[in-house]
Amino acid sequence: PKYVYDFTEGNKDLKDLLGGKGANLAEMTNLGLPVPPGFTITTEACRVYLDSGAEPPALRDEVSAHLAELEQRMGRKLGQSDDPLLVSVRSGAKFSMPGMMDTVLNIGLSDDSVAGLAAQAGGDDRFAWDSYRRLVQMFGKTVLGVDGDLFEEALEAAKRAKGADSDLGLDAADLRGLVEEFKAIVAKEAGREFPQEPREQMDLAVRAVFDSWNTDRARLYRRQERIPGDLGTAVNIVAMVFGNLGPDSGTGVAFTRDPATGAQGVYGDYLQNAQGEDVVAGIRNTVPLADLERIDKTSYDRLLAIMETLETHYKDLCDIEFTIERGQLWMLQTRVGKRTAAAAFQIATQLVDQGLIDEAEALRRVTGAQLAQLMFPRFDDAATARGSVRRIGWGIAASPGAAVGKAVFDSYTAVKWSRSGEKVILIRRETNPDDLSGMIAAEGILTSRGGKTSHAAVVARGMGKTCVCGAEELEVDTKRRCLTAPGGLVLEEGDLISIDGSTGKVYLGEVPVVPSPVVEYFEGRMHAGAEEAGELVRAVHRIMAYADRVRRLRVRANADNAEDAARARRFGAQGIGLCRTEHMFLGERRELVERLILADTDGEREDALKALLPLQRADFVELFEAMDGLPVTVRLLDPPLHEFLPDITELSVRVALAEARKDANENDLRLLQAVHKLHEQNPMLGLRGVRLGLVVPGLFAMQVRAIAEAAAQRIAAGGDPRPEIMVPLVGTVQELEIVRDEADAIVAEVREATGADLDLSIGTMIELPRAALTAGQIAEAAEFFSFGTNDLTQTVWGFSRDDVEASFFTAYLEKGIFGVSPFETIDADGVGALVRSAAEAGRATRPDLKLGVCGEHGGDPESVHFFHRAGLDYVSCSPFRIPVARLEAARAAA
Ligand code: ADP
Ligand code: MG
Ligand code: MG
Repeated sequence: PKYVYDFTEGNKDLKDLLGGKGANLAEMTNLGLPVPPGFTITTEACRVYLDSGAEPPALRDEVSAHLAELEQRMGRKLGQSDDPLLVSVRSGAKFSMPGMMDTVLNIGLSDDSVAGLAAQAGGDDRFAWDSYRRLVQMFGKTVLGVDGDLFEEALEAAKRAKGADSDLGLDAADLRGLVEEFKAIVAKEAGREFPQEPREQMDLAVRAVFDSWNTDRARLYRRQERIPGDLGTAVNIVAMVFGNLGPDSGTGVAFTRDPATGAQGVYGDYLQNAQGEDVVAGIRNTVPLADLERIDKTSYDRLLAIMETLETHYKDLCDIEFTIERGQLWMLQTRVGKRTAAAAFQIATQLVDQGLIDEAEALRRVTGAQLAQLMFPRFDDAATARGSVRRIGWGIAASPGAAVGKAVFDSYTAVKWSRSGEKVILIRRETNPDDLSGMIAAEGILTSRGGKTSHAAVVARGMGKTCVCGAEELEVDTKRRCLTAPGGLVLEEGDLISIDGSTGKVYLGEVPVVPSPVVEYFEGRMHAGAEEAGELVRAVHRIMAYADRVRRLRVRANADNAEDAARARRFGAQGIGLCRTEHMFLGERRELVERLILADTDGEREDALKALLPLQRADFVELFEAMDGLPVTVRLLDPPLHEFLPDITELSVRVALAEARKDANENDLRLLQAVHKLHEQNPMLGLRGVRLGLVVPGLFAMQVRAIAEAAAQRIAAGGDPRPEIMVPLVGTVQELEIVRDEADAIVAEVREATGADLDLSIGTMIELPRAALTAGQIAEAAEFFSFGTNDLTQTVWGFSRDDVEASFFTAYLEKGIFGVSPFETIDADGVGALVRSAAEAGRATRPDLKLGVCGEHGGDPESVHFFHRAGLDYVSCSPFRIPVARLEAARAAA
């Protein structure tokens, strides 16, 4: 293969091979823009080096050939003593990884050529020694691994000695002295002299850039950004241009639009008499780019014209690095610039208005993740930036949002305090299903253990509640009800705490929060405060309108009550894809469920069911009313019954204590017996789902009756209910047939009794591998399938979701066994393959079979794209994720 490309040979579409920087340098070169000449060593060469530990043998000669060509064009040789060519050696991967990898400037300078450089610059000794000083410093640090602080300290000392307040106060002699000092530091720390041979400098720098792909910080960054670890980086060798040649020189960065809002204008920073890295390093104060007009009008006008060219060419916001060498403008980098979520929406619609892109492209320019970001209330950046609040910890950003409240350490207190109107943050080492009520009551959840898919994280995301988890440096003591932060700071119950679920940061005290104007808009509640965000809201509104025109997938909500259903509808839900009826059995009704479970006789059981019937019916009436005219999929009872009974250990202790006092009560004894009887080693694979319906007489019948009667009641009231009855955890068509026969009979009975024209479809979840494998048979008895991808993932992988996260998922993620938890994003190759084949087999049996998905994956962008490709009819997700799913469904179709 060809390992080296001249800038004239590449183009912007070759990012895989040339990296982003190289591809765009080539693109600019071919656009005729002023780019210093140079060439790019491909990512492929880097991969060979990383895999084998050595550069590919052919690389050396190819580099030599390109270098010779470069030298010829420039009319000077690399490091030539009387007139040296200098180059930069710059990293540049396919995806930008800001500040993660290395670049070395001024390669080619040596004790020998420094005088030549001075001569080249018209006898400017200071400039030459400044450049050399920079080379030894950068080379020492990035190539030879010397601690950068040692150079910084030496530089500071030199400035102090001179009484200079910036590096500009040092003259040629000072800088020359500094070079000697730097070289001594290198010799001492690296155990070798600073290399004087130019080609050796270059080759070592290239290798250092290759190596920088695998530094710890680069790996960490890639994991967070989901960038594959095996891409490697390209290396760009670029002829140096000098911004440090005096006041008519300088360096800067520019954006073609404001990356925070998308507004067009002149945005950027400029620094006179400096080299590129100074701008970022902040060693001197930059001036706003607009000031360049005054400093050097010709270059300024030229730059603005180039920015216009780039924007029209890339049809997007670009950011730029440039350098001015004695009045001559040079372009050193451009790329499609990063932007805030708000700017992404605004830029996309602005570009449509300018006729640069069409609506489909506008959809590609924004993401569901950005929309989600815009939907959470946020901490006022001004407050956190001012440092007026103290950060006490930093955990995993598990569920975005900004929450402030009083610290509580148990669910009971969370509920009690929130009932009396307090805002609370529930703090636990980790959460479990017993904490649910506390999590619901809390503004946000903070845990010191567990990852992005821990119980706390998953449940919080489902509820759209702010959560920071795994804040490991915080010591949570639930017994003493306090939290200890590093440095010994103790937070007691009742103290105010603020958590940022978008960044994972935890603050002491109250950080001011600003509401999301985008949510206000979805809620139809625009008020005065949202005015200033009008531009953003208008952009979101337009993008959502494009999205709804383009998408094929319908979007439903997971919602169990009328309030959630109504919100879901405002957010654009086209029905309910999952109503979990177990949530209707909590609170005061738990006692009735207990009675049902404890019933010894048919009579007792029937009484318990009879008491539950009207309560369930009333729930459904409300739900159907909120979703009038839209489908509502009601799942019959799914969880193991023990979940409705007291915890076995607690109860055993209670009974034992009571027995010791000789006053054990009859009910507790019966409960304990029942709990023992229901106790299972693997409850998730035990008596639950359809199995309950088949062994607890009357249970499913009661639920079906409640649904049918509620529908009849709504029809009588002039409504248009569209219930769909869903049977969970079916593994074979026989199970479904039995439930179905019973249900059909009850519906017929209700139809008869009420005279209502009931139209109820009955379907099943596909959440066991056997169900997926026999989907063709199951479709005989099902009018719809809803893929329960949570359980399907558990059973296909054999992972217990509640256990594996804490125990080995981190190791799996680190070893790259998967890039993201299969509970977060659908495992397309395994679980996804089953979904595809089941969908196909189901439709072969029943062409009008309706296909949907419920579960976490329904609101996950990547998974939504998969479900679109798999040809499903709809996805169902939590109300808060609906706009995200609408947008991603459209992006999948666009
Ligand atoms: P990063 O990816 O960290 O921005 P770069 O490779 O872009 O690293 O280089 C760091 C700085 O050095 C930038 O400001 C860049 O503009 C400047 N620079 C790189 N190559 C040259 C060059 N050949 N001449 C002058 N400045 C350069
Ligand atoms: Mg750069
Ligand atoms: Mg399930």
